[in-house]
Amino acid sequence: MPTSLLDTELTYLPGIGPKRAELLQKELRLRTFGDLLHYFPYKHIDRTRLYYIHELTADMPFVQVKGEILSYEEEGTGRKRHLIAHFTDGRHIMDLVWFQASAIKWAKQQYKIGTVYIVFGKPTVFNGRINIAHPDIDPADSLALSTMGLQPYYHTTELMKKAGLNSRSIERFTQTLLSKLGLGVDSPPTPPDRAGGESVVAETLPPWLIQRHLLMGRAQSLRALHYPTSADELRRATYRQKFEELLFIQLKLVRYMRERQQQSRGHLFSRVGQHFNTFYSHYLPFQLTGAQKRVIREMHADMRSGKQMNRLLQGDVGSGKTLVALMTMLIALDNGYQACLMAPTEILAEQHAATFRQFLKDMPVRVELLTGAVKGKRRREPILSGVADGTVQILIGTHALIEDTVQFHNLGLAVIDEQHRFGVAQRSKLWRKNTLPPHVLVMTATPIPRTLAMTLYGDLDVSVIDELPPGRKPIQTQHFWQERTESLYRGIRQQISLGRQVYVVYPLIKESEKIDLQNLEEGYAQLCQVFPDLHISKVHGKMKSAEKDAEMDRFARGETQILVATTVIEVGVNVPNASVMVIQNAERFGLAQLHQLRGRVGRGADQSYCILVTKYQLSKETKSRIQIMCETNDGFEIAEADLRQRGPGDLEGTQQSGVAFDLHIANLARDGQLVQLARDTANYILDHDPTQSAPENATMWHRLAELSKDEMDWKNIS
Ligand code: ADP
Ligand code: MG
Repeated sequence: MPTSLLDTELTYLPGIGPKRAELLQKELRLRTFGDLLHYFPYKHIDRTRLYYIHELTADMPFVQVKGEILSYEEEGTGRKRHLIAHFTDGRHIMDLVWFQASAIKWAKQQYKIGTVYIVFGKPTVFNGRINIAHPDIDPADSLALSTMGLQPYYHTTELMKKAGLNSRSIERFTQTLLSKLGLGVDSPPTPPDRAGGESVVAETLPPWLIQRHLLMGRAQSLRALHYPTSADELRRATYRQKFEELLFIQLKLVRYMRERQQQSRGHLFSRVGQHFNTFYSHYLPFQLTGAQKRVIREMHADMRSGKQMNRLLQGDVGSGKTLVALMTMLIALDNGYQACLMAPTEILAEQHAATFRQFLKDMPVRVELLTGAVKGKRRREPILSGVADGTVQILIGTHALIEDTVQFHNLGLAVIDEQHRFGVAQRSKLWRKNTLPPHVLVMTATPIPRTLAMTLYGDLDVSVIDELPPGRKPIQTQHFWQERTESLYRGIRQQISLGRQVYVVYPLIKESEKIDLQNLEEGYAQLCQVFPDLHISKVHGKMKSAEKDAEMDRFARGETQILVATTVIEVGVNVPNASVMVIQNAERFGLAQLHQLRGRVGRGADQSYCILVTKYQLSKETKSRIQIMCETNDGFEIAEADLRQRGPGDLEGTQQSGVAFDLHIANLARDGQLVQLARDTANYILDHDPTQSAPENATMWHRLAELSKDEMDWKNIS
């Protein structure tokens, strides 16, 4: 069987053996020939060109030079100790440098004076001389440079390097593997038109698709990803593999969504009636933005389709999502249904309840709040019975909403604020309250690129509010060093004298909780000292919630001018009069979090400021985070930068995806356009071959089944 060769364990590849196989499995999760075939190099280096020393400059990437070592010299002691080899190409001299005792010993033993070597590495300049630190060195007679072409570089781990497995070793393995598969560097190139066919590496995409997108054949592309003959071939091979990878993910997702849509009937909200219209024409205090109107239309279209709505509403902080949620709920009421809104914290739930009551104060709508803090028979009972008999039309709360004691009369719409705090399991628990599940609207202010959203939140449709209400002044963001407290205090004083309020936020994480709390307390004490005439609130996660709420309330009512807090205020708190957000130790926050925090100000008409305070020594990544924050207020731009820095794997919400997937080559953040193409193609394929039985697609469906076979049954979790 052709496939069995790819399923062969790596132990059986010449040069690997049980020990190395175990290491490859443990460190890189490579178990079979097929796994290794899909372990792509992270870069290639052109090894056809030799340089002379006089040509080298410090801004060159990797270069190679042919020559010999003239002499060795050791300098420095202790941690500064290093070995220098004076190396010549026959005309000029440069230095090769090694640090660390073990490397020094090894280099000295390994590389002989007078032997001709090819030295490979990144040139830098030190003390006015060109040098290469820790170069790759091969005897010149062992390398046939003209045939090496583009050399692959593979990631390896520390443990592997210790065991003598480096990129070069993997290179040998892939060479052996490819020739075993008949795709060797020395074997004749695979003709693109018969790629696959009788080859061990069978084609997985149907011919019509390959033709339509001018894709390279699978076998050729797999070979070329390791050993391309030109940069152009590498580019086309990469494109083919990325497309294939994304297509299979999107096929799974789209198929899953379609199945669910067919099964899931939803409440029919055919009417837009009195509640919505009265609110819209009499009580809505401002014009909706174009984006708000559009997303309300999108949601209404879902809710009157007869299918269950599952929609993600993305919008930057302050873009008016809450209002959209409110108006969507009024449509539910118009059709005789109840609606609920679930928030991640008590403070937020209370704030939503207050907002809703304010907006609806002149309308006959009963809004109730249910949180963990609403205890005792007398307080709870009327709410619960009202929810059960349908007189409570809108219920707002926390997790308390999904307790078993909460029985809705007829829940038609569930809104979940800030998705990332809730998992799939909780979302589905709401659904089980009724025979027919309610429509579900998930709101998030953590914007992610649409193509990414459609993959990570695979089972949700996505709406985006990409427009802020008019009249908002962009927040000015500035970076301060920790030491510059004086001008910081002056700025705070000035804003407060204008009647504004100020947040001062400290990081708080479990691992360093004690020190973090101490920092906050010290900061608080210092502010009290600097501003003896002001009232200052303090809120942190270790306080009792009643105490916390009381302090938040004081700040919200304007009784205190400064709120010193940990990130408990991260999400949703709305105090329009607050115009300054000071973030202490900003270097310890991620981009998404910084952006969330900044979104707490800039909600009124006044100019607002966000001050990022950091220590002086910053890593490159941190500097670039701070810089992005200072340059832009656009949440989508920030989200994309965040993804580039962290990769989508770290995103909260990855677990939200309807299907499991693993990426080898594509990058959801960087390959957005290709994700879209894969999505469109998946839709096209399933439109034309809904039963997945067209003979011309057989290899593709077969491959999809193969790819899905070891997955857990994800249907059961959502
Ligand atoms: P989000 O939930 O997206 O963070 P909110 O719904 O809380 O945003 O809206 C932020 C503020 O802007 C609120 O005070 C809200 O009343 C106000 N707002 C919402 N939509 C508009 C609009 N179209 N025009 C003016 N103000 C608006
Ligand atoms: Mg909000």
